Amino acid sequence: MRREEKSNPKTSPPPPAMPSPPPQPLPISEHADEIVAAVEANTVVVVIGETGSGKSTQLSQILHRCGYSRRGAIAVTQPRRVAAVSVSRRVAQELGVPLGDEVGYAIRFEDRTSERTCIKYLTDGVLLRESLSDPELKQYSVIILDEAHERSLNTDILLGLMKRLIKDRASDLKVLITSATLDGLKVSNFFSGCPVLNIPGTLFPVEKFYSTERPTNYIESSLKTAIDIHVKEPSGDVLIFMTGMDDIDKMVSKLKERIQNLEEGSCMDALVLPLHGSLPPEQQVRVFAPAPPNCRRFIVATNVAETSLTVDGVVFVIDCGYVKQRQYNPSSGMYSLDVVQISRVQADQRAGRAGRTRPGKCYRLYPISTYQKEFLEATVPEIQRSSLAGSVLYLKSLDLPDINILKFDFLDPPSRESLEDALRQLYLINAIDENGQITDIGRIMAELPLEPSLSRTLIEANELGCLSQALTIAAVLSAEITFRPTRSKDMEGKRKRQELPDGSGWGDHIQLLQIFESWDQTGYDPRWCSDHELQVRGMKFSKDVRNQLSQIIQKIAKGPTDVQAKKRQKSDPDYRKLRRALCVGYGNQLAERMLHHNGYHTVGYRAQLVQVHPSSVLEGDEYGKLPVYVVYHELISTTRPFMRNVCAVDQSWVKPILKKIERLDINKLSGGSSSSKNSEPLEEKQASSPKKVMDVTQSDVD
Ligand code: ADP
Repeated sequence: MRREEKSNPKTSPPPPAMPSPPPQPLPISEHADEIVAAVEANTVVVVIGETGSGKSTQLSQILHRCGYSRRGAIAVTQPRRVAAVSVSRRVAQELGVPLGDEVGYAIRFEDRTSERTCIKYLTDGVLLRESLSDPELKQYSVIILDEAHERSLNTDILLGLMKRLIKDRASDLKVLITSATLDGLKVSNFFSGCPVLNIPGTLFPVEKFYSTERPTNYIESSLKTAIDIHVKEPSGDVLIFMTGMDDIDKMVSKLKERIQNLEEGSCMDALVLPLHGSLPPEQQVRVFAPAPPNCRRFIVATNVAETSLTVDGVVFVIDCGYVKQRQYNPSSGMYSLDVVQISRVQADQRAGRAGRTRPGKCYRLYPISTYQKEFLEATVPEIQRSSLAGSVLYLKSLDLPDINILKFDFLDPPSRESLEDALRQLYLINAIDENGQITDIGRIMAELPLEPSLSRTLIEANELGCLSQALTIAAVLSAEITFRPTRSKDMEGKRKRQELPDGSGWGDHIQLLQIFESWDQTGYDPRWCSDHELQVRGMKFSKDVRNQLSQIIQKIAKGPTDVQAKKRQKSDPDYRKLRRALCVGYGNQLAERMLHHNGYHTVGYRAQLVQVHPSSVLEGDEYGKLPVYVVYHELISTTRPFMRNVCAVDQSWVKPILKKIERLDINKLSGGSSSSKNSEPLEEKQASSPKKVMDVTQSDVD
């Protein structure tokens, strides 16, 4: 899917940009000849180099200069959207070309590339999606899987796919896998002993200071350390690692206030900047601009600054030792968003940020014994802590010969339990049949850039004649930027919220739809959003995503689609069709109200007690009046297990799902290779998880 405004030869060309090469040669550039020789001689090459050595920005340019992009584009995958955008912008700048021309990026719902693009930065998820329509990825001559050490779910799947792809395209495809910390030998073994190039870095020594004990309040402790540095230390920027947006916002405002009221004084000015994945682009740019003269910058960041984005000028690092991590438990189907201890690899990466330009200092807000004895050696790969329904559907849709999902060649296999959980989920929403074969519905679902429940909802909604409404819901729930009213407690905030539609008693999906439709009726007036405490950026992005989804579904759906009519259909005042479509789409995420207890229990092979999340429009309704059956978008464990975004559904729609649950046979679903049958054992051991430290309620991991 490409955006309409994509390079149009008729519009006036943007002003020529001046090349702006990096100020000093980066380690990668100094080893360019060696890298090119290795790539010439091998199909797969692993490149290990310190963060900031130039892997993301220079490798693609080196290969471009050697003519590799003449045979096809050079793809560079990034696990994070923010990195794909930021690094491509930087490379375009270094080459002096407008972004979107020779150098571009593609992330979900945003494509800034053109026919001329020969260096393309894209998220690993987008490359997976591209391989659906072009299984051999013929448009690329080189594929660089960057930041492989992040071990994102999609990069891990790409590693397995590349292994297959190079067999077919050994003569005209080059694959590079780059990493700051990855065990090169392990990847090399995975790729039949491919060469590993270790690029020596230029890290200066970093002195580490440990706390004697864990602080009770790490924000306060970081704040104090930051002020100490500002008052006592010579020039040099400070990078402060926090766990998420909430903490960053708090830290930024408190730090600004303390610096302003500083009694001791500092001979330098100060600039405090946030850095996280949801930052608007104009604010991201500020982080990469050099500090003004005689000014110390404080960059308050999530783990996005650990390896994905390199900020120059950092000499001091404050490391709270925590990270916010989403973990999925396949036995309960529940996500938890926990603040957990980082791994030793992460701690070392964080410290390394202080030694890029001169000797630096790292303040670890934890004792050395915590680092040595409590931190895990390395971060648990995402594949071992995510729901795999989307990935399994994707792999099934590839129709790879000889593939049994339970035996797919993973660098680190997920647990059998997670794979079986994914198969059960897909079966309940008709994406696979009882023998585990992908269905026609499943194939269409795989083409939609949505999680399975939402893609299934769209297909059902198209059948039932309420696609337009379902598109809005799918767009809003997958836009990744929320427009939800903030829960400010003052009277004014409450009043504004009360003016918003309330979902008519049918729940959150319907409320989101009604809010969007009310905005639509104002002609998309941004003032209406701010008047109702809605985030304009999130609303606009949802609208954009909706447009793109409607174009995609028109292309792939069989039969007519009705994406136009945005107004609520008068013939269906109770949203019956839409709620029915949601019930089918979320057939694997169903809950029934308990008769004698205050709450619901989930329905299916893993029944458990859950509550409606406090952010829901249904929360606070009299218990007896709550719907008997609901479907939920997500099960999340914070203080208790909660269903987030719920929708009331009818008992009659639930019956066929219950029947399917009864018939479910995991042996058949897994192609006869389930644990209870005689089969080769898959990795049964679950990866050890980092210790959970506290509950969080916001889904603001970057
Ligand atoms: P690596 O991938 O090895 O971590 P990068 O190629 O990302 O290294 O970074 C190399 C250099 O490019 C660093 O000095 C970094 O500061 C700079 N750089 C990367 N992205 C940007 C950007 N968006 N704006 C300005 N400088 C950048």
